[in-house]
Amino acid sequence: MELVVLGVSGSYPSARGACSGYLVRTAEANLWLDCGNGTLATLHEYCDPGDIDAVVITHEHPDHCADIYGLHVAWRYGLERSGLPVFAPSGAEQRLGALVSGWGGVFDWRVIEEAAPVEVKDARLDFRRTDHPIPTFAVEVSSDATRLIYTADTGPGWSVDSFPHGADLVLAEASYLHSDRRTNMHLSAHEAGEMARNSSAGALMLTHLWPTVDSTESLHEGSEAFGAPATLATPRLVTNV
Ligand SMILES: [Zn+2]
Repeated sequence: MELVVLGVSGSYPSARGACSGYLVRTAEANLWLDCGNGTLATLHEYCDPGDIDAVVITHEHPDHCADIYGLHVAWRYGLERSGLPVFAPSGAEQRLGALVSGWGGVFDWRVIEEAAPVEVKDARLDFRRTDHPIPTFAVEVSSDATRLIYTADTGPGWSVDSFPHGADLVLAEASYLHSDRRTNMHLSAHEAGEMARNSSAGALMLTHLWPTVDSTESLHEGSEAFGAPATLATPRLVTNV
């Protein structure tokens, strides 16, 4: 399994950055986890938008879903295709569709249900509701005995250990430094590290840093809590899980 980081900025894009988006490639499937603003532009460098097999929208905050509109135009009027599976919280199809007067059948909207795994080619996707003000789902992608867990957005009231322990990689939001937590909607790097350690994660990658946060400090804080060196998600980082 390969993880391609498309964008990492927490909540709004940093200079030359993009918000949340990740391309996960298994032997057979191209999965786009969160299509935050700016991520479609980077996606083109790694995958033809027509070769995407499914999109996951973890929640309806714009920094996780705004590029669904560009993808809609590309599929509908450029590729003239339809039926792309989009997994999203209940009601997302209607709420997001208000801006485009409906989707014209381009997307095959499927409602995410907690602990109700779905399959896309050789990938299995499982979901857990996180601690965030609107319905938000962390996603576990597994294929060929490899497991990646993406926390999406969450506060400290949820933990990655609601999935089976021992994932190969936990891609965890780490919006803040622990000494400067702005809200309970998100995690600090310390909390992300602690959570990954408690779930016996094989590796930890920190993402969704608030754009003004010192990423070097975040990496240090997260690694210390994890008990091993973590990595920092950066746009165009390609990792074998
Ligand atoms: Zn959010």
